Amino acid sequence: MGEEKYKKPRERMVVEQLERRGIVDERLLAAMRAVPRHLFVPSNIRNRAYCDYPLRIGHQQTISQPYIVALMTQLLELKPEDKVLEVGTGSGYQAAILAQLVDKVYTIERIQELAERARENLAAIGLEKVKVEIGDGTRGLPEEMPFDAIVITAAAPSVPEPLKEQLADGGRLVLPAGGHGGQYLERWTRQGEIISREKLIPVAFVPLIGEYGWPSGMA
Ligand code: SAM
Repeated sequence: MGEEKYKKPRERMVVEQLERRGIVDERLLAAMRAVPRHLFVPSNIRNRAYCDYPLRIGHQQTISQPYIVALMTQLLELKPEDKVLEVGTGSGYQAAILAQLVDKVYTIERIQELAERARENLAAIGLEKVKVEIGDGTRGLPEEMPFDAIVITAAAPSVPEPLKEQLADGGRLVLPAGGHGGQYLERWTRQGEIISREKLIPVAFVPLIGEYGWPSGMA
């Protein structure tokens, strides 16, 4: 499973792509060392699992570049007791990283086949505790709110209103915001009724499709 031949490429990924670019959270670095990313990519491209770019996972979707997964996670500033929501399960890799850092992880995927495969991927490494839901994640998961941290791993026009409402006081929300031409990574933080936004670096993500995202013609 965590086969020997992937250990070196994984260690190189952590040192060259993450530590050298300023990922400093020790618990996060340990998570990136621990999770076998190659099990989350299609078997025919497993040898590229630790490369410095996103990979296709079917249905015109991708598993994000390792650095972007790490950066978004670091921006969430997670504490072990936090309850986290991910919108855009994809392969389940980001959820697996989150589950190394906190106990309660919920993730939503709109494409049923991807959600089912992600469940299998997570179960294969003993992470059945991650709750994978199928549906429109732009509506969030009201029955489980509030969330201390929310990460949206697809490009939204802006933060979907329901997700703002489901963010706990002191909560952090990280997303790529913008359209087809490219987006900026943003972090939104709630303090009481005030939600502030930081605009970070330019990124390129697949679109967030849903009631509070883009219409499905953009898929
Ligand atoms: N986090 C994923 C991983 O670790 O593999 C990569 C996510 S991929 C870049 C974006 C995902 O968001 C796709 O799987 C896509 O189907 C999903 N998505 C897009 N709109 C969605 C929505 N409204 N609700 C849930 N998932 C959505």
